Amino acid sequence: SGIIATSAMILILMGFLIWYLLHWVGRLRTIEQMKDDFTHNMTHELKTPVAVAYSAADSMLRYYDQSDEARNKQFLKIIMQRLSFLSGMIENILSMSMERFKTMKLNIEPVAIKPVVEDVSGMMGLKADKPVDINIDIPDNLSVRADSLHLGNILSNLIDNAIKYSGDSVNINIKADDRSITIADNGIGIEKGNLPYIFDKFYRVTSGDRYEAGGYGLGLFYVKQIVELLGWSIDVTSKPGQGTRFTIKFKSDEKR
Ligand code: ADP
Repeated sequence: SGIIATSAMILILMGFLIWYLLHWVGRLRTIEQMKDDFTHNMTHELKTPVAVAYSAADSMLRYYDQSDEARNKQFLKIIMQRLSFLSGMIENILSMSMERFKTMKLNIEPVAIKPVVEDVSGMMGLKADKPVDINIDIPDNLSVRADSLHLGNILSNLIDNAIKYSGDSVNINIKADDRSITIADNGIGIEKGNLPYIFDKFYRVTSGDRYEAGGYGLGLFYVKQIVELLGWSIDVTSKPGQGTRFTIKFKSDEKR
């Protein structure tokens, strides 16, 4: 039926996309020392959502039951979510590996921010491997001038970090008057000495307690580049053992 054909097509497209991307990532030669690590982590990062989407489509095709609409919808939802995560990742990788930030063209338009935050938070909550409490406090009808895809990526990077670095409660707060977006977590925090470097390309804090958290030190670099391209700014404050707070200041006259 239609659903089977759609899933099959999505999978084939996804296969091509990933093949192309890995092929392309493999050709990155800019920073030799970091390359192997980078490719390894990236491959891992890409493989997981592909594997999840693949098995969802596989079980759907294998045990297809037309009458069980709820189950079919659930599988399609999983596939959609993984695809949307992958598309964000791909956009991330392409934007930074090509060193094209300075000339990058953003598609800037008024973006209603609440739905973007809600979508991204929902996805991050599902992606998390533990229960996470994401609290959102954003005025309705607030728009900012931004590129909606990149804005979504910025938020998912920050929320992803908040969860990855042990937070189980994330507060996302937007104040129209201050023109500020804050993303605060109750995770392990960042020592003062490391704070000045966290937006640097490939910088990762590797001290003891953050052992396993995977990554390649590009998330915050990407965030900072885009924030600056938008003419915005980003700041961070943190208390080790208590949590971290990122504050983005967006530009004025953004209210609809
Ligand atoms: P990655 O997470 O891939 O290492 P990022 O650029 O996203 O790279 O972050 C750089 C470093 O900043 C991370 O290695 C981590 O140590 C630290 N960091 C970022 N966000 C947080 C956070 N919310 N809490 C604690 N540490 C963080």
